[in-house]
Amino acid sequence: MSTSFFGKYIVPEAAKLRNSDSYRTIPPVDDGAAREVVYSGAKLLNLASNNYLGLSHHPDLIEASNKAATRHGCSSGASRLITGNFALAETLEAELATFKYQEAALVTGSGYAANLAVFTSLADRHTVVFSDRLNHASIIDGILLSGARLVRYKHLDMEHLSRLLDREALAEKKIIVTDTVFSMDGDVAPLARLVELGKAHGALVVVDEAHAMGVLGRGRGLVAALGLSNDVDVQVGTMSKALGSLGGYVAARVETIELLRNKGRSFIFSTALPPAVLAAGLAALRHVKANPGLGARLMRISRQIRDHLDSLGFDTMGSTTQIIPVFCGRNRVALHAQALLRAEGLLVAAVRPPTVPQGTARLRLSLRADLTDDDLKHIRLGFSRLRVSFFP
Ligand SMILES: *Cc1c(COP(=O)(O)O)cnc(C)c1O
Repeated sequence: MSTSFFGKYIVPEAAKLRNSDSYRTIPPVDDGAAREVVYSGAKLLNLASNNYLGLSHHPDLIEASNKAATRHGCSSGASRLITGNFALAETLEAELATFKYQEAALVTGSGYAANLAVFTSLADRHTVVFSDRLNHASIIDGILLSGARLVRYKHLDMEHLSRLLDREALAEKKIIVTDTVFSMDGDVAPLARLVELGKAHGALVVVDEAHAMGVLGRGRGLVAALGLSNDVDVQVGTMSKALGSLGGYVAARVETIELLRNKGRSFIFSTALPPAVLAAGLAALRHVKANPGLGARLMRISRQIRDHLDSLGFDTMGSTTQIIPVFCGRNRVALHAQALLRAEGLLVAAVRPPTVPQGTARLRLSLRADLTDDDLKHIRLGFSRLRVSFFP
């Protein structure tokens, strides 16, 4: 009925959204992770996916995935607490733990679910969680669901974090949480200092390696790259980005994983990943382990492209990784720049609020290790042309 909730609230809000420049549509694309995608009939170089190593189409992953589906079917049947563990899940967890230099690991349905599991198991209303202002939405949602008090510190600002920790000295339980590589900025957390602060204040340190896994530290992440594997308490990550598949994980001490397995709501109340997905994740992990130089190549490519963008006068916002933002400010500017690049055969994301703070709309390039020298030339040329419109 038109006087209902639907007519009164949903219809006008949808109309308002549709007329704003933050309206989101989901474009049709058949093969969103591939190096090249066909988009409204045009072939574009894909700089928008998080498939950083191009592993989603690797024959090892596809074969492992096919075999697992043939042998075990397409579903895991229920939550693992109900139907029990696949050997595949246990093998994947054991190999993830070893790879991350941790005692144990737990695989969840997604990286989003992993963060929900961490905070609903480890935090409660007696906990204060100190969170970088630009942390991923799944971290914020996990904190909210746990009932803990959220205290946000300025992005990467360890002085600010230190002052806030002092101010909350009486809090019973404290957790510090940060992305290691920030998903929309491509910069990295000052982990050594953060770990020091955690120790000084008796706070648990949780990091999210979603964009570092498979890339930094010979694929093991930023924590391992910095030699902090024994100092960070909990490492969250995902197989949906550089590992080219799907599924989250948490790697930590045995007792921590026991708590997650028993109390993590997103783990307990959600069906386990299907065999084909677990098998792809395992194959990807093994591929990264056997090819530890993939991430270093990606970092080299990223530095070249970033230097080029900087030299053209674009603001790459402190990125030091394969994620390279190009600051635009207003939503319209970002959408316009995106359209110009599309005409040049380049697919990049235009990221707008609420994904990023108001007034900081940007292009987001995510580079990938399977780009050829010709692709790199193509990217440099596209941005050189964009510059003419940007700074006429
Ligand atoms: C993408 C992302 C997640 C969520 O991972 P999914 O596997 O896509 O659910 C969690 N944390 C960070 C930092 C991410 O960038």
